[in-house]
Amino acid sequence: MKIICVNAGSSSLKFSLFNMEKEEVIASGLFERIGMNNSNSVIKYNGQRIEHEVEMKDHTDAVNVLFDKLISLNIIDSLSEIDGVGHRLVHGKDKYSDSVVITDEVVKDLLQFKEFAPLHNPANVLGINAFREKLPNVVMVGVFDTAFHHTIEEENYLYATPYDWYKDYGVRKYGFHGTSHRYITETLTNKLGKKDFKLINCHIGNGASLAAINNGKCINTTMGFTPLSGVIMGTRSGDIDPSIIPYVMEKEGMNANEVVDELNKTSGLLGISGKSGDMRDILAGMDERDSRCYLAFNKYCRSVTNYIASYYVELGGVDVISFTAGVGENSAPFRKMVCDNLECLGVKIDYDKNDTILGEFAKISTDDSKIDVYVVPTDEELLIARDTLKFIEN
Ligand code: ADP
Repeated sequence: MKIICVNAGSSSLKFSLFNMEKEEVIASGLFERIGMNNSNSVIKYNGQRIEHEVEMKDHTDAVNVLFDKLISLNIIDSLSEIDGVGHRLVHGKDKYSDSVVITDEVVKDLLQFKEFAPLHNPANVLGINAFREKLPNVVMVGVFDTAFHHTIEEENYLYATPYDWYKDYGVRKYGFHGTSHRYITETLTNKLGKKDFKLINCHIGNGASLAAINNGKCINTTMGFTPLSGVIMGTRSGDIDPSIIPYVMEKEGMNANEVVDELNKTSGLLGISGKSGDMRDILAGMDERDSRCYLAFNKYCRSVTNYIASYYVELGGVDVISFTAGVGENSAPFRKMVCDNLECLGVKIDYDKNDTILGEFAKISTDDSKIDVYVVPTDEELLIARDTLKFIEN
């Protein structure tokens, strides 16, 4: 059984081809600069990285190139070997609480919800249309990044803004990274052999969000109407006072979109340090005693700690804290600082063990810690492939 998992951007297309019997990636790759000059394809297969400059004027071309390459590299013999396609979809608004078989209605909804994810939803549709053309009879499944947060109740998803903004315009918290939060929840459920536990999952990559999960159900998350809010991120500010926006508009002669663009692209670790939004550069800056890198790091960790503390109260205690994504899986100093900040809740980690864990599943808390702390690598593609398989089997 072979399933291809797709993440389509406006000028890019990422894929992973899975062998579902072994849940193994057979090949993966990235097609970039679609519709531009110098578009290129990278395919990883059998430990090799095969890169080509190839003209792709649209996503249909990219999908044609993808399958030509899969066949010419003998990764598959023919298109008939593909049993299903799983698409990573970003915004399902409050309509989609679970993964779905992609129909014309789903495509229509994605376009209708494009105001909520202008960069992502139309791009997702480009990917869907291209694969539908190439593989018209293959099951296609959509897995929404917002779906896992569907269980959040009104009291938590509503902003304290005029209620009509919510009713008339859909102004509310939606939450993102849902596929990752769900993958971690399911992985821990399997590994711990129990379903009923209170979990705070920290997905800390370039983008970052936390989710509070009670017995497998999400009850709150840090990202909101858009992925800009919540904790401090690589280049995003996280929560700020919205009155800053008109103030900076006036000072800098910018419009609102330009200020929001700065909050998305030049804030966070990058904004505070003035150096980089990449945690590795911030840690290197700290080694050189750069005070702004220290400030950025401390504030970043503090914002994660504060949300953990808030969710601890909201969940009525916590059994497990998990760290995932680029920073969460790989940065021991980040995990140490957040856990040290949580000492008053009885969190204790084994520093030596923490230092050795890079992108692998591990418990890093000590036996006498009041909360278990785990590092859990995320795998959104595998979850998308698993969901696709469920629809094929039913
Ligand atoms: P995205 O949100 O783009 O999917 P990732 O989850 O891949 O991001 O995380 C990327 C970030 O992970 C990088 O910007 C970097 O800050 C961080 N990162 C990756 N490896 C390390 C490492 N060894 N130490 C510290 N940070 C790391």
